Amino acid sequence: MEKVVILLRQHIGAPCQPIVNVGDEVKRGQLIATPTGLGANIHASVSGVVNEISEFSIIINAFDEQPKDFVPIKATDDYLEAIKEAGVVGAGGAGFPAHVKFKVDLGGGYFIANAAECEPLLGHNIAVLEENPELIIRGIKYIMKIVNAKTGYIAIKVKHLKAIKIINKALKPEDHITVKILPDMYPAGDERVIVREIVGQELEPGQLPSALKAVISNIETVKNVTLAIEERKPVIDKDLTVAGRVRNAEEGMVFLNVPIGYPVKKFIEKAGGYVEPYGEIVLGGPFTGKHGEEDAPVTKTLGGIIVSMPFPKDVRKVGILACECGAQEERLREIAKAMGAEVVAEKKCKRMVEVNGRWRCEKPGVCPGQAATVIDLKKAGAQVILAGTCSD
Ligand code: SF4
Repeated sequence: MEKVVILLRQHIGAPCQPIVNVGDEVKRGQLIATPTGLGANIHASVSGVVNEISEFSIIINAFDEQPKDFVPIKATDDYLEAIKEAGVVGAGGAGFPAHVKFKVDLGGGYFIANAAECEPLLGHNIAVLEENPELIIRGIKYIMKIVNAKTGYIAIKVKHLKAIKIINKALKPEDHITVKILPDMYPAGDERVIVREIVGQELEPGQLPSALKAVISNIETVKNVTLAIEERKPVIDKDLTVAGRVRNAEEGMVFLNVPIGYPVKKFIEKAGGYVEPYGEIVLGGPFTGKHGEEDAPVTKTLGGIIVSMPFPKDVRKVGILACECGAQEERLREIAKAMGAEVVAEKKCKRMVEVNGRWRCEKPGVCPGQAATVIDLKKAGAQVILAGTCSD
């Protein structure tokens, strides 16, 4: 029996409260935890027996034979309620509960499906678009109806030419959805860059797209909306890309619809196993991912499992240069530590400003030269620079 770990916090907000007990037999799709405030329902991704419950997770001993089907969410004609019941959250990383985000009246504004697949190596969102564009188009139409948007967009980088052709072929004039091409740069998938490219106006740091009558969700979130409404399917499966120093996945191998809760090492092994030597496992994309362990479970928001190159062993003094859209100070310090290097100074990109206690970028993607900041770091004793900035 494999152990499947379902985290109780897979979203922005407080951890969910378990509604099952140790020893209970659960079925794939069964509701097992509910929010205590801002949050989203959590369902069993496998059939099995509840083995352990802690404040962080519910561990299920999965039966050897697993069904493909699932316990459906309760029947409802209300789209927003279906999304809530299914526990849909932003699958692109943030995990904001979708039923809360979509509870807005845009008064005829825009819904934008984010297909930028912005982080290098990741490919699972584009794979879904190429395999089943209609699934995404229907999802966009459901969301447009919910949020009262007159126009839908699919924002996609120019390099995804095959996907662009497939979507354009699948779209009909009556869909009121247009493909919008994004430049092939990082962070083109940032919400504020997308709003700037599509709506033609700049959001202030910390301002939500709804201020400019727009709502943005990534492709997998849209897919989960369609599945919740049409198939009454809860969010129990995840799309992933495995990449890096993995035997068959150097350029990225996509896994679609894997049950949430299995350890990431299972997918590294499925992709051929490690290429030795390697540095660390990164959970997320190369720019914004975090260090992870082999037994970390797949969650509703995990997109990338990247095995990095070995850390250069460099004991020179390090200066850190952080970026809102790339690696931030904490992550850069983590990398310096893994290199065995001492951090002697830290600076942020000069476009970063503090808004409500959080450092934000004033103009994501319009990246300045960092020469002056680098000189400052050198003056503070840095011999080498670790930069999380997007360019320069
Ligand atoms: S302007 Fe600075 S903080 Fe903003 S995205 Fe570019 S490098 Fe990052």
